[in-house]
Amino acid sequence: MAGKITIFDTTLRDGEQSPGYSMNSAEKMHFASQLERLKVDVLEAGFPSSSKGDFESVQMIAKKVRNVEVAALARTSKEDIDAAWGAIKEAAHPRLHIFIATSDIHLQHKLRLNRDQVVARAVEAVKYAKQFTNNIEFSAEDGSRTDRDFLCRIFEAAILAGATTVNLPDTVGYAIPSEFVDLITYIKGNTPNIGKAILSVHCHNDLGLATANTLAAVNAGAQQVEVTVNGIGERAGNTSLEELVMALHTRKDYLPYFTTINTKEIYPSSHLLAMITGIPLQPNKAIVGSNAFAHEAGIHQDGVLKNETTYEIMEPATIGLKANRLVMGKHSGRHAFKERLRGFGYDLSDREIDNLFQRFKELADKRKEIVDEDLEVLIAEEILRVPDIYKLQYLNVISGTATVPTATVQLETGKRVQQDAGFGIGPIDATFNTIAKMTGTRSKLLHFSIDSLTGGTDAQGNVIVRLEEDGIQTLGKGTDPDIIVASAKAYINGLNRLEHLKQK
Ligand SMILES: [Zn+2]
Repeated sequence: MAGKITIFDTTLRDGEQSPGYSMNSAEKMHFASQLERLKVDVLEAGFPSSSKGDFESVQMIAKKVRNVEVAALARTSKEDIDAAWGAIKEAAHPRLHIFIATSDIHLQHKLRLNRDQVVARAVEAVKYAKQFTNNIEFSAEDGSRTDRDFLCRIFEAAILAGATTVNLPDTVGYAIPSEFVDLITYIKGNTPNIGKAILSVHCHNDLGLATANTLAAVNAGAQQVEVTVNGIGERAGNTSLEELVMALHTRKDYLPYFTTINTKEIYPSSHLLAMITGIPLQPNKAIVGSNAFAHEAGIHQDGVLKNETTYEIMEPATIGLKANRLVMGKHSGRHAFKERLRGFGYDLSDREIDNLFQRFKELADKRKEIVDEDLEVLIAEEILRVPDIYKLQYLNVISGTATVPTATVQLETGKRVQQDAGFGIGPIDATFNTIAKMTGTRSKLLHFSIDSLTGGTDAQGNVIVRLEEDGIQTLGKGTDPDIIVASAKAYINGLNRLEHLKQK
């Protein structure tokens, strides 16, 4: 009989804490709803003691998500556990996730504790957590570099204290698949009460082995896997949810396991995350990259046309990839528009749909054809919106070979409308300089990228900027058929998001 593998998603915790992937609470909420549609078993919503903002977004997710377990991370201190429980206590199915490092390297250099003290802390923490819930996960941080017998000892103690899941993290992405199998086998053979808990693994991709190690662990008896959508996470990332799930799904003949993931939501989840974070996927990313189902070589194309199974091991529809692109235009009605949005799977309110339809009409006036990519950008901008402090009213830019690039900008700040002009070495520089002067921002522009959403010279320019001020980083996005206007929108969106984050 096939064994069920519990999917523990940590996109909103491990993924979100990696540089460049931070999300605001509205974005986290949207993504949590998508994880619910994807049908993960557990979603780790955050690390509530790390900041007030994190506490609030975990709390918001815990109140809204009903069909998935919601986990919160905590160190072994009472304050951490209190914060984590405070954030998830209203969840339908809460889980406390407590961790402490167990490797000698971490004990000596980070914790400055001996092994007995670490075991005592773990036991005390699990017992303390037990008064709140019976659903407790214990993680041995840097587990793969921990002495094997000590690992068995601390797992045994944690289970005895009440842990219902014990997690073995390869925190630094150091393990090799065959070695990891050995370790899992050893733990199963030498932890007397291991059968009373679910054994979990959490792998990092520093050597590109996260999925391989996780799959090897499953084969050796691990029953829960910790993964992230698109494999995002600290440094080189975590095990990618889509790779692990589709490996189990595609090779059922060899791997007698199953998950309850709705695979048709894999592509929408991946896409939504890339949109929210503004970080595109590499084209050759397994399962969800834009080239993952593209057949370029003539001999392959010929084979696939005759029969897909010649070169395709998975059907694109299995992961929710739509084959046909629907084109819409200015004569498309509200009903067709709404139906199309529903097709993307996003959970949008009537007010959001009204706003989107308005913006769709404005765009359709400028362009003949509107394709899925355009619509998705409209949706992303709508759900990424923060209350605007600065609004662009007017922009006029003069540039060319025989003139000093000059930008005239009109900005609305609250009820005040101000206008100014400035110069730069190019039209975008002139625009940004003028906006920076008017808003008095001290932010640094870390990154600027521009690409077109679709082919054709009338395609929309899609600009992403990354800004930093006082250690706070954010991204800004802007889209417009005019790339200078798109750049101004992205910069102003970034400034609005910075203000929003500073107020937290
Ligand atoms: Zn991790």
